[in-house]
Amino acid sequence: MIELRGVTKVYGSGPAEVRALDEIDLSVAPGELVALMGPSGSGKSTLLTIAGTLERATAGTVLIGGRDVSRLGKDELARLRRRSIGYVFQDFNLLAGLTAVENVMVPRELDGLGHRRARAEALAVLEKMSLADRAERFPDDLSGGERQRVAIARAVVGERRLLLADEPTGALDSVNGEAVMRLLRSCCRNGVAGIVGTHDAQLAAWADRVVFLRDGRIVDRTAPRPGPESLLGR
Ligand code: ADP
Ligand code: MG
Repeated sequence: MIELRGVTKVYGSGPAEVRALDEIDLSVAPGELVALMGPSGSGKSTLLTIAGTLERATAGTVLIGGRDVSRLGKDELARLRRRSIGYVFQDFNLLAGLTAVENVMVPRELDGLGHRRARAEALAVLEKMSLADRAERFPDDLSGGERQRVAIARAVVGERRLLLADEPTGALDSVNGEAVMRLLRSCCRNGVAGIVGTHDAQLAAWADRVVFLRDGRIVDRTAPRPGPESLLGR
């Protein structure tokens, strides 16, 4: 689903140059959740931003669904971002003036769906996340864990194929943090490729595999869990 080949990101130039990512190779298949682990400043956010096409790599290639994103026009890229990619951020980023269900409806309404269908879909996703009874509440009336679940619902509603989460548990206690990781993993089980940045090893252990970053380089990775593909030798 997503493949990074030799992705390098350099910020600034001359003595102020920062090599935030250095020749990153990483691919994530549909149905797989990969945790990106590393200390602060190791490049996690940069990698997620580039994977999400929100920024361009200095060098290397990003393929999403087999397409080189650097070759997409502005409109195509905007469509890809809007339709196929879901983002979850540490600070939730819910719109305070909209209820939970309205927040989840936003991406589908941007997709051009009518109000009724968008609402029905949003309610269905909220229900899956055990938030049906919170649908009409405003973010201020939700707990931190509930807000983060609404943000995940918003990121996966519709036909997103790529889910990117940057320290989505950062503002949560450990119980809610684990619940969020479990939820991300179950969202991915339905064929979504996910990457989640975290500096917490315990939370990273919820992913199918872990990639360790340091100074913009992958310094280690756990083996993928054997799936049916490996038995077929593919
Ligand atoms: P992490 O998310 O793992 O904490 P980041 O991806 O935010 O790491 O940062 C990686 C490196 O790139 C850091 O040295 C950071 O200071 C630098 N960096 C990130 N974004 C920018 C930017 N917009 N301009 C300059 N340097 C940046
Ligand atoms: Mg970060």
